[in-house]
Amino acid sequence: MNKIDELALVPLCVPEIRGNEWKYIKECLDTNWVSSGGSYVSQFESMLAGRIGTSDAVATVNGTAALHMALLCCGVEADDEVLVSNLTFIAPVNAIRYIGAFPVLMDADPTFWQMDVDKFTNFVEQECIWKDGALWNKKSGRKVKAIVPVHILGHPCDMDPILEIARKYNLKVIEDATESLGAKYKDRIVGSMGDCACFSFNGNKLITTGGGGMIVSNNPQIIERAKYLTTQAKDDPIEYIHSEVGYNYRLTNIQAAMGCAQLEQVDEYIATKRRTADSYEKAFRTVEKIVTMPEASWATSAKWLYTILVDGGSRGLMAHLKKNKIQTRPLWHPIHKNPAYQNFEAYHCDNSILLNDNALSLPCSVGISDQDLARTIETILNYLE
Ligand SMILES: *Cc1c(COP(=O)(O)O)cnc(C)c1O
Repeated sequence: MNKIDELALVPLCVPEIRGNEWKYIKECLDTNWVSSGGSYVSQFESMLAGRIGTSDAVATVNGTAALHMALLCCGVEADDEVLVSNLTFIAPVNAIRYIGAFPVLMDADPTFWQMDVDKFTNFVEQECIWKDGALWNKKSGRKVKAIVPVHILGHPCDMDPILEIARKYNLKVIEDATESLGAKYKDRIVGSMGDCACFSFNGNKLITTGGGGMIVSNNPQIIERAKYLTTQAKDDPIEYIHSEVGYNYRLTNIQAAMGCAQLEQVDEYIATKRRTADSYEKAFRTVEKIVTMPEASWATSAKWLYTILVDGGSRGLMAHLKKNKIQTRPLWHPIHKNPAYQNFEAYHCDNSILLNDNALSLPCSVGISDQDLARTIETILNYLE
């Protein structure tokens, strides 16, 4: 065997399970509370709402379902338009289409990689008009109803300009906070700034329930409606009367039990993520071909998925690391370049393309060992020198 064959894979980002997960899940099994009734669901909801600082929360089967419900609960309807980040995992854009609404894709800014607020402002002020108490896209003739800023990779979007424009033009703000649990924007917690926000507890997220999601909000109407729609819009639970089309989108007690155990450890997880990011930062700071992961002066990033830019493109380095059993990943293919979305409006999305060419996410599991981290850094430096 050669040396590489003997090495264990360094995974990109895997769950960390070392707390009360076994105890709480066993309690579900012991008490027969395995389904969507059960006290862990409401406990998980109040724990997350407490952490974000919203009045309430509604747990869902996954983050995509949370986004789908959040859009519905904010009044987005078929043929409305929703402004959404172009450089993102596809979930929020798909959720817009589930309703029959239209995404308008907003470019990423080249410095912090989040939704470009200057382009967003230009789009609203130049491409839209305010008429009859609503914002209309001049070209498409459709009503712009909401904006979904996606806080990618653990870093917040620049929310003040987004919130200001949204207030001015009566747009609902749905934060996609699925990648940024634990992040702050100025002194505000990510997930507490919009009309509502969505989280995900998929296996690669900061904390996981296997699969799961959450809507948080300070608006009791949004919360009540999300509870209603996620439980099949059941008006009368005994006689099974439904006035509307609902969804089977609730989280189970088993998953929520795991979520409670994970959330107990979230501060430790964030500290570990930031420590890993610091190690990469120190190693790469002086490397000419690498731009390290940015953090704005107004931001506290949760550093969920540590990502660099590689001058001249990231795929060569990715292939080299793969050969060395180190798992990495480029950022998502820009949404407007996906066949499913090539016919939707994208507003000057050239930064997204450049970022996609150069970005590479590096191994940063909460449980990554010092040796694996050191080997990853060394392999990258060797390749670039
Ligand atoms: C993970 C993620 C989601 C939600 O994903 P689920 O797998 O449905 O929980 C939504 N938006 C973004 C940006 C994500 O990264």
